[in-house]
Amino acid sequence: MMTCKEVTRLISEGQDRKLTVAERVGLEMHLLICDGCTNFRRQMDFLRAACRRYVGTVKGGAGRSDRPDRDA
Ligand SMILES: [Zn+2]
Repeated sequence: MMTCKEVTRLISEGQDRKLTVAERVGLEMHLLICDGCTNFRRQMDFLRAACRRYVGTVKGGAGRSDRPDRDA
């Protein structure tokens, strides 16, 4: 089982690169049992979505609908 430290690192890296299948499975297994990391990922997703919306707004709004928000 991954530690919280490994999981949070993978969540951060997952914003910038595609995780391997093994990494994703380990991540999801950990998230099933760890509220702290689940909250961390939710915050990362929120920040990423907010950043993308902001960038889209600056560029003229074109980037708003390229990916549906999961929580919408
Ligand atoms: Zn954890």
